[in-house]
Amino acid sequence: MGFEEILEIRKRIDEINSRMLGLLSERGALVRRIGEIKSREGLEKFDPLRESEELEALLPRNPGPFSDATIRYLFTEIFRASLDLMEHQEEEILRVSRRHKSADTVFSVGGAVFGGQEPVIIAGPCSVESEDQMRRVASALAEAGVKVIRGGAFKPRTSPYSFQGLGARGYEILSRAAREFGLASVSEVMEPAAIPMAESVDILQVGARNMSNYKLLEAVGGAGKPVLLKRGFAATCEELLLAAEYMIAGTQRIILCERGIRTFERWTRNTLDISAVPLLRAYSHLPVVVDVSHAAGRTDILVPLARAAVAAGAHGVMVEVHPAPAFALSDQNQQIDLAAFAGFARAVRGSVAGPRE
Ligand code: PEP
Ligand code: MN
Repeated sequence: MGFEEILEIRKRIDEINSRMLGLLSERGALVRRIGEIKSREGLEKFDPLRESEELEALLPRNPGPFSDATIRYLFTEIFRASLDLMEHQEEEILRVSRRHKSADTVFSVGGAVFGGQEPVIIAGPCSVESEDQMRRVASALAEAGVKVIRGGAFKPRTSPYSFQGLGARGYEILSRAAREFGLASVSEVMEPAAIPMAESVDILQVGARNMSNYKLLEAVGGAGKPVLLKRGFAATCEELLLAAEYMIAGTQRIILCERGIRTFERWTRNTLDISAVPLLRAYSHLPVVVDVSHAAGRTDILVPLARAAVAAGAHGVMVEVHPAPAFALSDQNQQIDLAAFAGFARAVRGSVAGPRE
Protein backbone atom coordinates (compact mmCIF):
# COMPACT_ATOMS: atom_id res chain seq x y z
CA MET A 1 0.00 0.00 0.00
CA GLY A 2 2.80 2.40 1.08
CA PHE A 3 4.78 1.47 -2.02
CA GLU A 4 1.85 2.20 -4.33
CA GLU A 5 1.56 5.62 -2.76
CA ILE A 6 5.27 6.22 -3.40
CA LEU A 7 4.77 5.27 -7.06
CA GLU A 8 1.87 7.67 -7.29
CA ILE A 9 3.91 10.51 -5.75
CA ARG A 10 6.85 9.72 -8.04
CA LYS A 11 4.57 10.09 -11.02
CA ARG A 12 3.63 13.57 -9.84
CA ILE A 13 7.32 14.38 -9.25
CA ASP A 14 8.10 13.26 -12.82
CA GLU A 15 5.42 15.63 -14.10
CA ILE A 16 6.86 18.48 -12.03
CA ASN A 17 10.37 17.70 -13.34
CA SER A 18 9.11 17.91 -16.86
CA ARG A 19 7.30 21.21 -16.17
CA MET A 20 10.47 22.57 -14.53
CA LEU A 21 12.49 21.55 -17.58
CA GLY A 22 10.00 23.32 -19.82
CA LEU A 23 10.22 26.45 -17.65
CA LEU A 24 14.03 26.33 -17.64
CA SER A 25 14.08 26.11 -21.44
CA GLU A 26 11.62 28.98 -21.70
CA ARG A 27 13.78 31.02 -19.32
CA GLY A 28 16.88 30.08 -21.34
CA ALA A 29 15.29 31.28 -24.58
CA LEU A 30 14.45 34.65 -22.96
CA VAL A 31 18.00 34.96 -21.60
CA ARG A 32 19.29 34.38 -25.12
CA ARG A 33 17.07 37.19 -26.44
CA ILE A 34 18.56 39.52 -23.82
CA GLY A 35 22.03 38.25 -24.81
CA GLU A 36 21.38 39.19 -28.45
CA ILE A 37 20.22 42.67 -27.50
CA LYS A 38 23.18 43.19 -25.15
CA SER A 39 25.60 42.10 -27.89
CA ARG A 40 24.00 44.47 -30.37
CA GLU A 41 24.17 47.36 -27.92
CA GLY A 42 27.67 46.46 -26.73
CA LEU A 43 26.47 45.99 -23.13
CA GLU A 44 28.13 43.84 -20.46
CA LYS A 45 26.51 40.38 -20.20
CA PHE A 46 27.01 39.94 -16.48
CA ASP A 47 24.77 42.11 -14.31
CA PRO A 48 25.34 41.36 -10.59
CA LEU A 49 22.75 43.93 -9.49
CA ARG A 50 20.03 42.25 -11.51
CA GLU A 51 20.89 38.86 -9.95
CA SER A 52 20.60 40.15 -6.38
CA GLU A 53 17.32 41.94 -7.27
CA GLU A 54 15.92 38.67 -8.54
CA LEU A 55 16.90 36.91 -5.31
CA GLU A 56 15.55 39.71 -3.14
CA ALA A 57 12.22 39.44 -4.91
CA LEU A 58 12.13 35.66 -4.56
CA LEU A 59 13.32 34.91 -1.05
CA PRO A 60 10.53 36.71 0.89
CA ARG A 61 8.08 34.58 -1.10
CA ASN A 62 9.82 31.29 -0.29
CA PRO A 63 7.07 29.05 1.13
CA GLY A 64 9.53 26.30 2.19
CA PRO A 65 10.30 23.50 2.79
CA PHE A 66 13.65 24.50 1.22
CA SER A 67 15.65 26.99 3.29
CA ASP A 68 16.45 30.45 1.88
CA ALA A 69 20.09 29.36 1.60
CA THR A 70 19.13 26.38 -0.54
CA ILE A 71 16.89 28.49 -2.79
CA ARG A 72 19.67 31.08 -3.12
CA TYR A 73 22.10 28.30 -4.10
CA LEU A 74 19.74 26.75 -6.67
CA PHE A 75 18.92 30.07 -8.33
CA THR A 76 22.58 31.11 -8.34
CA GLU A 77 23.28 27.96 -10.36
CA ILE A 78 20.52 28.89 -12.81
CA PHE A 79 21.97 32.41 -13.12
CA ARG A 80 25.42 30.93 -13.76
CA ALA A 81 24.09 28.62 -16.47
CA SER A 82 22.19 31.52 -18.05
CA LEU A 83 25.29 33.71 -18.15
CA ASP A 84 27.16 30.82 -19.74
CA LEU A 85 24.40 30.59 -22.36
CA MET A 86 24.68 34.32 -23.12
CA GLU A 87 28.47 34.30 -23.31
CA HIS A 88 28.69 31.33 -25.65
CA GLN A 89 25.72 31.98 -27.88
CA GLU A 90 27.74 33.62 -30.62
CA GLU A 91 30.35 30.89 -30.67
CA GLU A 92 29.86 28.61 -33.57
CA ILE A 93 29.29 25.07 -32.47
CA LEU A 94 31.69 23.01 -34.55
CA ARG A 95 30.32 19.81 -36.01
CA VAL A 96 33.46 18.00 -34.87
CA SER A 97 32.83 19.08 -31.28
CA ARG A 98 31.20 17.24 -28.42
CA ARG A 99 28.86 20.17 -28.01
CA HIS A 100 27.45 19.22 -31.41
CA LYS A 101 27.47 15.46 -30.79
CA SER A 102 28.19 14.09 -27.34
CA ALA A 103 28.66 10.38 -28.16
CA ASP A 104 31.96 9.10 -29.54
CA THR A 105 32.00 8.58 -33.30
CA VAL A 106 32.67 4.90 -33.94
CA PHE A 107 33.09 3.32 -37.38
CA SER A 108 34.60 0.26 -38.97
CA VAL A 109 37.00 0.03 -41.86
CA GLY A 110 37.50 -3.58 -42.89
CA GLY A 111 38.09 -5.46 -39.66
CA ALA A 112 39.19 -2.40 -37.66
CA VAL A 113 36.86 -0.43 -35.40
CA PHE A 114 37.91 3.19 -34.88
CA GLY A 115 36.61 4.93 -31.78
CA GLY A 116 35.87 1.71 -29.89
CA GLN A 117 37.40 0.06 -26.85
CA GLU A 118 40.24 -1.82 -28.56
CA PRO A 119 43.23 0.25 -29.69
CA VAL A 120 43.71 -0.11 -33.46
CA ILE A 121 47.25 -0.63 -34.73
CA ILE A 122 48.04 0.92 -38.11
CA ALA A 123 51.41 -0.28 -39.36
CA GLY A 124 53.47 -0.40 -42.51
CA PRO A 125 56.40 1.19 -44.23
CA CYS A 126 56.96 4.88 -44.66
CA SER A 127 56.94 4.44 -48.45
CA VAL A 128 55.61 1.74 -50.71
CA GLU A 129 58.76 0.52 -52.48
CA SER A 130 57.92 -2.82 -54.10
CA GLU A 131 55.39 -5.63 -54.29
CA ASP A 132 57.69 -7.94 -52.33
CA GLN A 133 58.23 -5.38 -49.56
CA MET A 134 54.48 -4.79 -49.14
CA ARG A 135 53.58 -8.48 -49.19
CA ARG A 136 56.16 -9.26 -46.50
CA VAL A 137 54.85 -6.49 -44.27
CA ALA A 138 51.20 -7.38 -44.92
CA SER A 139 51.85 -11.02 -44.08
CA ALA A 140 53.56 -10.09 -40.78
CA LEU A 141 50.69 -7.74 -39.87
CA ALA A 142 48.05 -10.38 -40.61
CA GLU A 143 50.06 -12.84 -38.51
CA ALA A 144 50.01 -10.37 -35.59
CA GLY A 145 46.24 -9.84 -35.95
CA VAL A 146 46.68 -6.24 -37.18
CA LYS A 147 43.89 -4.98 -39.43
CA VAL A 148 45.24 -1.84 -41.10
CA ILE A 149 48.33 -1.41 -43.28
CA ARG A 150 49.87 1.93 -44.26
CA GLY A 151 52.32 2.91 -46.99
CA GLY A 152 53.06 6.17 -48.77
CA ALA A 153 52.70 6.32 -52.55
CA PHE A 154 53.11 10.08 -52.93
CA LYS A 155 55.64 11.24 -50.36
CA PRO A 156 55.82 14.82 -49.09
CA ARG A 157 59.62 15.00 -48.77
CA THR A 158 61.45 17.96 -47.30
CA SER A 159 64.03 17.79 -50.08
CA PRO A 160 62.97 17.68 -53.73
CA TYR A 161 65.93 15.33 -54.32
CA SER A 162 64.70 12.64 -51.90
CA PHE A 163 62.63 9.63 -53.03
CA GLN A 164 59.19 10.98 -53.92
CA GLY A 165 57.28 7.68 -53.88
CA LEU A 166 56.06 5.33 -56.61
CA GLY A 167 52.96 7.44 -57.27
CA ALA A 168 49.79 5.80 -58.55
CA ARG A 169 51.57 2.41 -58.81
CA GLY A 170 52.26 2.67 -55.06
CA TYR A 171 48.53 2.81 -54.33
CA GLU A 172 47.98 -0.29 -56.45
CA ILE A 173 50.78 -2.27 -54.79
CA LEU A 174 49.52 -1.26 -51.33
CA SER A 175 45.91 -2.20 -52.00
CA ARG A 176 46.83 -5.50 -53.67
CA ALA A 177 48.90 -6.55 -50.64
CA ALA A 178 46.16 -5.34 -48.29
CA ARG A 179 43.48 -7.33 -50.13
CA GLU A 180 45.61 -10.48 -50.32
CA PHE A 181 46.06 -10.51 -46.52
CA GLY A 182 42.61 -9.22 -45.56
CA LEU A 183 43.74 -5.79 -44.38
CA ALA A 184 42.38 -2.28 -44.81
CA SER A 185 44.81 0.22 -46.34
CA VAL A 186 45.71 3.83 -45.63
CA SER A 187 47.78 6.15 -47.81
CA GLU A 188 48.35 9.87 -48.19
CA VAL A 189 46.92 12.01 -50.97
CA MET A 190 48.67 15.30 -51.60
CA GLU A 191 46.37 17.04 -54.07
CA PRO A 192 42.70 16.92 -55.06
CA ALA A 193 43.52 15.83 -58.62
CA ALA A 194 45.23 12.68 -57.29
CA ILE A 195 42.20 11.46 -55.30
CA PRO A 196 40.83 9.29 -58.17
CA MET A 197 44.19 7.49 -58.36
CA ALA A 198 43.69 6.33 -54.75
CA GLU A 199 40.36 4.67 -55.58
CA SER A 200 41.54 1.27 -54.32
CA VAL A 201 42.79 2.67 -50.97
CA ASP A 202 40.41 2.33 -48.01
CA ILE A 203 41.43 5.33 -45.87
CA LEU A 204 42.80 8.56 -47.33
CA GLN A 205 45.48 10.29 -45.28
CA VAL A 206 46.07 14.03 -45.19
CA GLY A 207 49.64 14.56 -44.01
CA ALA A 208 50.98 17.02 -41.48
CA ARG A 209 52.29 19.35 -44.20
CA ASN A 210 48.86 19.56 -45.78
CA MET A 211 46.72 19.98 -42.68
CA SER A 212 46.07 23.60 -43.63
CA ASN A 213 45.51 22.94 -47.33
CA TYR A 214 41.82 23.75 -47.15
CA LYS A 215 40.92 22.88 -50.73
CA LEU A 216 42.54 19.47 -50.24
CA LEU A 217 40.65 18.99 -46.96
CA GLU A 218 37.33 19.67 -48.66
CA ALA A 219 38.15 17.42 -51.59
CA VAL A 220 39.34 14.53 -49.41
CA GLY A 221 36.33 14.96 -47.11
CA GLY A 222 34.07 14.64 -50.13
CA ALA A 223 35.80 11.59 -51.60
CA GLY A 224 33.40 9.10 -49.97
CA LYS A 225 36.10 7.39 -47.89
CA PRO A 226 37.21 7.54 -44.26
CA VAL A 227 40.04 10.00 -43.64
CA LEU A 228 43.08 10.05 -41.39
CA LEU A 229 43.97 13.67 -40.69
CA LYS A 230 47.40 14.38 -39.27
CA ARG A 231 48.14 17.35 -37.07
CA GLY A 232 50.52 19.85 -38.63
CA PHE A 233 53.84 20.05 -36.81
CA ALA A 234 53.19 23.69 -35.95
CA ALA A 235 49.43 23.45 -35.52
CA THR A 236 47.43 23.75 -32.32
CA CYS A 237 44.80 21.22 -31.32
CA GLU A 238 42.17 23.83 -32.15
CA GLU A 239 43.59 24.25 -35.66
CA LEU A 240 43.52 20.48 -36.14
CA LEU A 241 39.85 20.42 -35.17
CA LEU A 242 39.09 23.32 -37.52
CA ALA A 243 40.86 21.40 -40.30
CA ALA A 244 38.61 18.40 -39.53
CA GLU A 245 35.63 20.78 -39.63
CA TYR A 246 36.47 21.48 -43.31
CA MET A 247 35.99 17.78 -44.01
CA ILE A 248 32.99 16.93 -41.93
CA ALA A 249 30.47 18.22 -44.45
CA GLY A 250 31.73 15.38 -46.68
CA THR A 251 32.34 12.63 -44.15
CA GLN A 252 31.84 11.86 -40.48
CA ARG A 253 34.48 9.14 -40.72
CA ILE A 254 37.49 11.24 -39.68
CA ILE A 255 40.38 9.96 -37.56
CA LEU A 256 42.45 12.66 -35.84
CA CYS A 257 46.16 11.86 -35.66
CA GLU A 258 48.66 13.40 -33.25
CA ARG A 259 52.13 12.89 -34.73
CA GLY A 260 54.37 15.17 -32.70
CA ILE A 261 54.97 18.90 -32.93
CA ARG A 262 58.16 20.84 -33.47
CA THR A 263 59.85 22.05 -30.31
CA PHE A 264 63.43 22.90 -29.28
CA GLU A 265 64.01 19.26 -28.24
CA ARG A 266 66.56 17.56 -30.50
CA TRP A 267 66.62 14.01 -29.14
CA THR A 268 63.36 13.29 -30.91
CA ARG A 269 62.34 14.29 -34.43
CA ASN A 270 59.21 15.94 -33.01
CA THR A 271 57.79 16.14 -29.50
CA LEU A 272 54.83 13.85 -28.94
CA ASP A 273 52.15 16.08 -27.45
CA ILE A 274 50.50 13.54 -25.22
CA SER A 275 48.11 16.12 -23.79
CA ALA A 276 46.61 16.42 -27.27
CA VAL A 277 45.05 12.98 -26.78
CA PRO A 278 42.79 13.72 -23.79
CA LEU A 279 42.20 17.27 -25.06
CA LEU A 280 41.05 16.17 -28.51
CA ARG A 281 38.91 13.49 -26.90
CA ALA A 282 37.35 16.02 -24.55
CA TYR A 283 36.62 18.58 -27.28
CA SER A 284 35.72 16.22 -30.11
CA HIS A 285 33.71 13.07 -30.66
CA LEU A 286 36.09 11.87 -33.41
CA PRO A 287 38.50 8.97 -32.89
CA VAL A 288 42.09 9.91 -32.01
CA VAL A 289 45.22 7.96 -32.92
CA VAL A 290 48.90 8.64 -32.29
CA ASP A 291 51.69 8.18 -34.85
CA VAL A 292 54.63 7.31 -32.61
CA SER A 293 57.15 6.91 -35.45
CA HIS A 294 56.99 10.44 -36.86
CA ALA A 295 56.83 11.81 -33.32
CA ALA A 296 59.95 10.01 -32.12
CA GLY A 297 61.98 9.74 -35.33
CA ARG A 298 63.79 6.85 -33.61
CA THR A 299 62.93 3.27 -32.75
CA ASP A 300 63.98 2.81 -29.13
CA ILE A 301 61.15 4.66 -27.40
CA LEU A 302 58.19 3.59 -29.54
CA VAL A 303 56.75 1.13 -27.03
CA PRO A 304 56.57 3.56 -24.07
CA LEU A 305 55.17 6.28 -26.36
CA ALA A 306 52.50 3.93 -27.69
CA ARG A 307 51.61 2.76 -24.19
CA ALA A 308 51.38 6.37 -23.03
CA ALA A 309 49.09 7.13 -25.97
CA VAL A 310 46.77 4.25 -25.15
CA ALA A 311 46.82 5.09 -21.43
CA ALA A 312 45.88 8.69 -22.32
CA GLY A 313 42.82 7.44 -24.22
CA ALA A 314 44.05 7.08 -27.82
CA HIS A 315 41.91 4.82 -30.00
CA GLY A 316 44.95 3.58 -31.85
CA VAL A 317 48.60 3.96 -32.74
CA MET A 318 50.43 4.20 -36.04
CA VAL A 319 53.93 2.80 -36.44
CA GLU A 320 56.32 2.49 -39.39
CA VAL A 321 57.43 -1.05 -40.17
CA HIS A 322 59.83 -2.14 -42.92
CA PRO A 323 61.31 -5.57 -43.69
CA ALA A 324 64.80 -4.05 -43.89
CA PRO A 325 64.76 -0.56 -42.32
CA ALA A 326 68.44 0.11 -43.06
CA PHE A 327 67.65 -0.06 -46.80
CA ALA A 328 64.39 1.89 -46.68
CA LEU A 329 64.06 4.64 -49.27
CA SER A 330 62.69 7.06 -46.64
CA ASP A 331 62.75 7.44 -42.86
CA GLN A 332 65.36 4.69 -42.28
CA ASN A 333 66.00 5.81 -38.70
CA GLN A 334 62.49 5.38 -37.43
CA GLN A 335 61.19 2.20 -39.03
CA ILE A 336 61.20 -1.06 -37.09
CA ASP A 337 61.70 -4.49 -38.64
CA LEU A 338 59.14 -7.27 -38.62
CA ALA A 339 60.48 -9.00 -35.50
CA ALA A 340 60.52 -5.75 -33.52
CA PHE A 341 57.00 -5.07 -34.74
CA ALA A 342 55.71 -8.34 -33.28
CA GLY A 343 57.06 -7.24 -29.86
CA PHE A 344 55.59 -3.74 -30.33
CA ALA A 345 52.12 -5.13 -31.07
CA ARG A 346 52.25 -7.42 -28.03
CA ALA A 347 53.36 -4.55 -25.79
CA VAL A 348 50.63 -2.19 -27.02
CA ARG A 349 47.95 -4.82 -26.58
CA GLY A 350 49.23 -5.57 -23.09
CA SER A 351 48.76 -1.93 -22.11
CA VAL A 352 46.06 -1.04 -19.69
CA ALA A 353 43.47 0.92 -21.62
CA GLY A 354 42.88 4.45 -20.39
CA PRO A 355 39.56 5.76 -19.16
CA ARG A 356 37.02 5.82 -21.98
CA GLU A 357 34.06 7.39 -20.34
C1 PEP B 1 53.45 9.79 -43.20
O1 PEP B 1 52.70 9.34 -42.33
O2 PEP B 1 53.79 9.13 -44.20
C2 PEP B 1 53.98 11.15 -43.07
C3 PEP B 1 54.62 11.75 -44.07
O3 PEP B 1 53.76 11.71 -41.87
P1 PEP B 1 53.52 13.25 -41.49
O4 PEP B 1 52.59 13.81 -42.51
O5 PEP B 1 52.93 13.16 -40.11
O6 PEP B 1 54.87 13.90 -41.49
MN1 MN C 1 57.64 8.33 -42.77
